[in-house]
Parts: sequence; C-alpha cells; structure tokens
Amino acid sequence: MTDPRTGLIHHPYEPPAGFDAPAPGVFKASTVIFKDTAALHARAWKDKTGYTYGLHGTPTTFTLEARIASLEGGLQTLLVPSGLAAISLVDMALLKHGDEVLIPDNAYGPNKEFARHELAAWGITHRFFDPMDPAALAAMIGPATRLVWLEAPGSVTMEFPDLPAFVRIAKHRGVLTALDNTWGAGLAFNAFDLPLAEGGSVGVDISVQALTKYASGGADVLMGSVTTRDEALHLRLKLCHMRTGWGVGANDVELVLRALPTMALRYDAQDWAGRRLAEWWEARPEVTHVLHPALPESPGHDHWQRLSRRTAGLFSVVFDERYSAAQVDAFVDALQLFKIGFSWAGPVSLVVPYGLASMRAKPTWKGAVVRFSLGLEAVDDLIADCAQALTVVGR
Ligand SMILES: *Cc1c(COP(=O)(O)O)cnc(C)c1O
Repeated sequence: MTDPRTGLIHHPYEPPAGFDAPAPGVFKASTVIFKDTAALHARAWKDKTGYTYGLHGTPTTFTLEARIASLEGGLQTLLVPSGLAAISLVDMALLKHGDEVLIPDNAYGPNKEFARHELAAWGITHRFFDPMDPAALAAMIGPATRLVWLEAPGSVTMEFPDLPAFVRIAKHRGVLTALDNTWGAGLAFNAFDLPLAEGGSVGVDISVQALTKYASGGADVLMGSVTTRDEALHLRLKLCHMRTGWGVGANDVELVLRALPTMALRYDAQDWAGRRLAEWWEARPEVTHVLHPALPESPGHDHWQRLSRRTAGLFSVVFDERYSAAQVDAFVDALQLFKIGFSWAGPVSLVVPYGLASMRAKPTWKGAVVRFSLGLEAVDDLIADCAQALTVVGR
C-alpha cells in the first residue's frame, strides 16, 4: 500500500479488542463487508446470527431491538422509522385484498386514516368499533376479519378498554390482535400477559410502540417498534419490513439507547405530575370532565385498575359547553409553559385542543377537549400556568 489515499481507506491499524463501556457502541453502515464469497453465499438474513446489509440490522439496532423486546415482555422486535410506520407495517404485513381490519373508534387518528385511504385503495376493508363494548366487537368479527387493533387508553379521549376481554374474544375467533402500546410503553402492564377477570391470562399477538414518546423521551427522535412473542408471526412481519425497506438510522438508535435507562424514572415522574394536575382540574368549574384513567370517574377506570398502577403523564379535560371553541383556543394560546404541539413524553409540557366531532363516530362529550402532556417542569409551575391562562376565558 504505497499511495496515502488508499491508506486512508485501507489502513492496517486495528484498535485493541475488548473495549467496554456503559453505553453500547454505535455502528453505522449501509454496507456490511463479507470475509469471502463463501460468507456472502451463506448469508443468513432471516435471523440474527449475522449481518448482511445495514438495512437488515447492525449490532446497534440488534441491541435496541433486544432491549425493547424485553421491556415489552416479548421475544422479537423490529424497528421502524416512526410509530405510525409500526402501525402501517403491521397492516401491510398481515392484510391482503379482501381482508378486513377492525379498529377502535378512539384509536390514534393516523391509524384510522391509513385504513381509510391506503388500505381501502388496496381492497382491504375496515370498520371502527366501540372501544368500551367487547360484545360489539364479538358481533363485528366476520369471516374476512384478520386483524383487530387495540389501544389502551384511546388517544385523546382516554377511555380505558377491558383489554383482556377484547383480546380473548379475538383469540377465540382466530383473529390476530395488535395493540398500540405507546401509552403503556411496556411499563404500565405486560401486553403479552394480561390477567382475565375470571382468572388466567391472555396476550396480544403484536405490541407496537411509538418509541418517539417514552423510550426516547427527548422530543428529538422518531422511531417505532413492533414486538411479538411468536417466531412465525415475527418472520411474516420481518419479511414485509425487509421488502418495504424501513431502516432506522444509528444516530437515532443511539439516542433511544441512551434514554432507555431513565425511561421508568421519567414515566413515573410524569405519571405523578399528571395526576396532580388532573386532580387540580377536577376542582375547576370551567370543565365538566377530566379524562385520566387513574380518576374514578374516567371511563374504564376499573379496567385500568385491574391491569396497572401506572399511568402515562397524559390526560384531557372537556370544557363546559358554554365555552366556544374560540374561547378554548384563547385559553390554550394564553398558556406560557405548555407549548402547543403534538406528541408527548418529552421534557416540555405540551397542549393540543381537539374538536371531538371530527374524530369520533359518536362523540361522548359535547364541549371542546384539551389534551395535556406532562413534561418535566415543576408541577406547581404547570398548575400556576393553567390558572393564569384560565383567567383569559373567565367563569
Ligand atoms: C405518537 C403516537 C403514534 C405515532 O408515533 P410517531 O412516531 O409520531 O409516528 C402512534 N400511536 C400513538 C398512541 C401515539 O401517541
């Protein structure tokens, strides 16, 4: 090797082996180099015994996958570029022309939008079910039903379903279940081991998470995970994952790996703060409902209590009908510490006003809904922020 330009690329130096540090190493690669043609021909891209191409996994992505699988109580995890990609991967892998998917009416909005547009265009039908009525789901499952989505609690309106009852019904009918477990995050309950009221337990087939939320916690990463406990089901998902080409970047994986050790601490801190603020809202005359699974009046509180002691730092309030949408917007605009923005579980507290009419088939509440997501600020400051903003709308 005489030309220094070549030496910049093919250098004989190798650092000593055996380096160890608290943080796992970060490997970045599109290309993975094979030792020889025999290794190339023998490449095993279906399992994790080796490496074939950056898109199919690196030590960095394998490490995060293994940690999320354990967190969720599952055995295999796939990483995708967002929480929404985790939802659409499950749909694309498991649904074919002529199939039907059932989705809770209060599900994360983009899950419903994917069904309404992409799935519909591919000849896959969908229906939305009442998230609080297992009998309604049982009546809806037909010969074409292949997949039931679940979410606990529902996005924005926070009704907590009788998760084990829904899973048992779908299982009994031979239909796969997928849970959007972003709220529980693998910390509030084990989606693969849900206690039944009558004894015993059931588990969902697939748990997806927006790692964007609690796993990352920084409001600076988009990533999703798809976790299973069944090798054959995992392989179906993995093959679709490979064909669609959904890789994640090592820099993003590094951020999530770095945040995982503090995830439970952040979850519990935001849980505690969320309950304090939700209880404060309960005493306010401006709102008629506080939707937080830990509050006894919140829909599905009993279902939550049977599964968990933990909640995410997230809740909604329903303003009294005497307040117009414009007045509620004015309240939101008057907040100083709460920033207006989607997502949750980051360091900054967030707020979003929602009109239920466009979101739900049969809206349960009449007034405008405001969702709060707790950040990591001191809760007394957040309470004071809500109090000062309420002076804008008056009694
Ligand atoms: C945020 C979120 C998603 C989507 O995650 P992205 O990474 O933003 O695509 C899916 N489901 C729930 C319940 C969420 O809160």
